[in-house]
Amino acid sequence: MADHMECMCQDCGISSHFLVTDLSYDEAGPGERRLVQNLFCPECGGQLFVVGRVGEEPNYRTG
Ligand SMILES: [Zn+2]
Repeated sequence: MADHMECMCQDCGISSHFLVTDLSYDEAGPGERRLVQNLFCPECGGQLFVVGRVGEEPNYRTG
């Protein structure tokens, strides 16, 4: 089964799950966002960045 990655829109903030094999993104340094190069937000068409692999602990806090 293929892995999914969680991606979030920089503009509207929604998160979406994509197959890792469908994604192309920059490898960023520590603390930098990995910007998705080939897909865009399904809601607003904005820039997406990779949050992390689905099922792992997220590296951001909510609430
Ligand atoms: Zn958006």
